[in-house]
Amino acid sequence: MNELLRIAIQKSGRLQEGSLELLKEGGLAISNGRDQLKTQARNFPVEVLFLRDDDIPQYIEDNVADVGIVGENVFIEKQKNNTLIKRLDFARCRLSIAVPRSDNYTGVEWLSGKNIATSYPNIVQQFLDKNKIKAGIHEISGSVEIAPGIGLADAICDIVSTGSTLLSNGLKEVETVMQSESVLIGGPKLSSSKQEILDKLLFRIEAVNSAKNNKYILLNCPNEAIEKITSLIPGMKSPTIMPLTRVGWSSLHSVVNENDFWEKIDRLKSFGAEGILVIPIEKMIA
Ligand code: ATP
Ligand code: ZN
Repeated sequence: MNELLRIAIQKSGRLQEGSLELLKEGGLAISNGRDQLKTQARNFPVEVLFLRDDDIPQYIEDNVADVGIVGENVFIEKQKNNTLIKRLDFARCRLSIAVPRSDNYTGVEWLSGKNIATSYPNIVQQFLDKNKIKAGIHEISGSVEIAPGIGLADAICDIVSTGSTLLSNGLKEVETVMQSESVLIGGPKLSSSKQEILDKLLFRIEAVNSAKNNKYILLNCPNEAIEKITSLIPGMKSPTIMPLTRVGWSSLHSVVNENDFWEKIDRLKSFGAEGILVIPIEKMIA
């Protein structure tokens, strides 16, 4: 039997949807694993394991899974024999220290001799070491934000997205400890056939992600503007240029990055571009 690449993703939680979506956009036919522990893609040599995200680094170290998708925070915290294969650009969040709002926080020295409740003891310890602060760390696995209110700790370190959970628990964010996003991690070495499957999958993920970051753009312009426009939106190699029946005018097709999109549109207009159409790209292969 041919080998399957075993990919571990979160069974339920904030990473699950993005992980499944990424695999599906990569063309893998997989069914949602609501009640399943694992499922095999119908059209690609991949088996998807649905696990608790915190356990994924250990499963990879134990060779139960080959690769997995977790938050960078979990990857750093667990300190297993894992390597970061690729940043995946979703589930962006930050890990921050928060203290009671009534406390007069003056800077990291404030934490000296205090007790910090967190689910991320290793990351917090690294942060304290880096700042040469000695403080106690109280590890708890959930509802970290209630710890100061019930007298369990002086401060917390937890994931912050909107800050509203902090607010309703009478806390304020005072230090960012790390920024995080979803990452694909793996063990130290795959068999050559599994590596081949992974390379194919990475190629597809790349195609999906670059498509998301780029748009196809079509416009009409006077021929004198072609050179300037080409240097502004060179596209993947160079733009396609086709003559319009209107003398002295061309239609120009190219690709433009999402990040500087609006700025470029303004400049295109100033160069004389008209009838600008912008179209989403489904997959993009350089
Ligand atoms: P449990 O494992 O107990 O279900 P958890 O906090 O590990 O809890 P999730 O809340 O699903 O599980 O978070 C999974 C990952 O998603 C986190 O490790 C983090 O990387 C990321 N994450 C968490 N909260 C947010 C958020 N508000 N916005 C974006 N990403 C987040
Ligand atoms: Zn978790």
